[in-house]
Amino acid sequence: MVQKVLIANRGEIALRVHRACKELGLSTVAVHSTADANALHVRLADESVCIGPPAPKDSYLNIPAIISAAEITNADAIHPGYGFLSENARFADIVHAHNIVFIGPKAEHIRVMGDKIAAKAAMKAAGVPLVPGSDGPVSTLEEAKAAANEIGFPVLVKAAAGGGGRGMKVAPTADDLAEAWSTARAESLAAFGDDSVYLEKYLTTPRHIEIQVIADSFGNVAQLGERDCSLQRRHQKVLEEALSPVLDNEARARIGEIARKAVADIGYLGAGTIEFLWENGEFYFIEMNTRIQVEHPITEQVTRIDLVREQINVGAGAELSFRQEDVTFRGHAIECRINAENPLDFRPSPGEITFFHAPGGPGVRFDSAVYSGYSIPPYYDSMIGKLIVFGETRDHCIARLRRALSELAIAGVETTTPLFVDLLDEPDFQAGDYHIHWLENWLASKT
Ligand code: ADP
Repeated sequence: MVQKVLIANRGEIALRVHRACKELGLSTVAVHSTADANALHVRLADESVCIGPPAPKDSYLNIPAIISAAEITNADAIHPGYGFLSENARFADIVHAHNIVFIGPKAEHIRVMGDKIAAKAAMKAAGVPLVPGSDGPVSTLEEAKAAANEIGFPVLVKAAAGGGGRGMKVAPTADDLAEAWSTARAESLAAFGDDSVYLEKYLTTPRHIEIQVIADSFGNVAQLGERDCSLQRRHQKVLEEALSPVLDNEARARIGEIARKAVADIGYLGAGTIEFLWENGEFYFIEMNTRIQVEHPITEQVTRIDLVREQINVGAGAELSFRQEDVTFRGHAIECRINAENPLDFRPSPGEITFFHAPGGPGVRFDSAVYSGYSIPPYYDSMIGKLIVFGETRDHCIARLRRALSELAIAGVETTTPLFVDLLDEPDFQAGDYHIHWLENWLASKT
């Protein structure tokens, strides 16, 4: 049985994992770069090890340094959080090779889902509906043209290795294909060292709806309903809701069962998310994330299941503590990603937080690793924290969110809080009437 968990991450997710470990009676080891010596996860963990200089490649992505830290502290498990090494199959293999438990899926599943072309093939075989597209890589412009003509314009050229919204280019018409194809390839090569691309039908007004799944090594698999992450900027999520305001119970049960069955079919282990686009009542698979996600807390709020606790338990070889039939949904939850950024142009605003006050009261959770006097380093993402609010109904949740946002006080850096305050007053948002391009259109109309 696992006793000591090394947390190979930083920021709020390192703290989230630390908290789950402590509640399970496990010791924790924080690893950190020199820039994070004063970080909260370092202060709260039972032990900490400095693994290198600020640049992620020298610290949070430095596999030998992380494995050494696990060896010298006798950690028997590693939780990778999200980002950094969390979807690096080679890292999972190396962790196993050192007889350390990797709290995450099997390396083979990280590998398959990390290649979006292979992921689509695996999901198709498991009966999951896909976005129409090229059934494989398109290696020449001729192939791309042939595939695009079959799919019909507009098409999206996507990097097989893509992530974080990078390596994706739209070709509205046949005249735009050559450029979209070469830019997506170049961008993918620069960002991921791989220029394989494929084509998908570009859906014009879909919603992004994703299903949370979790599986243990005894064959128990559960789906925990959906999150609606349609409010995005540059293909990055900004605000998420659980459950989706647009699905009825029939659609919810249908897509949940498709996701659950797919996960069972491939013999998946741990927490994961199957992402779909939803348009005109139909679901289309886009990718699977083989890790805990940033927005997992809204699912925790509506299901009352601690996902990170379950994830650690199943990673350590235990059974899921619940069964599919125990999963019920209550109320509504919304998460706002509060970033240290200018709310109009989204320029990062690192620096010292001179004053910090988190909102509280009923139904309010603020997952963050900052404090008054904390300095946000310029080397990592700009997230300050996640404001997660639960209400008995969606309207109740929005009213509570408005109240919570008014209590949040952060001085010294610019934050995206004002954006959310405005957004809550938008009739379309209040009606739940939006799609993946709505937020960008709305932001453009404000400037
Ligand atoms: P990444 O791994 O970079 O996050 P995804 O495949 O998950 O890439 O897509 C991210 C976002 O890009 C989606 O949430 C959606 O907004 C948009 N997107 C992806 N595929 C399509 C598509 N076929 N049509 C329209 N939008 C898409």
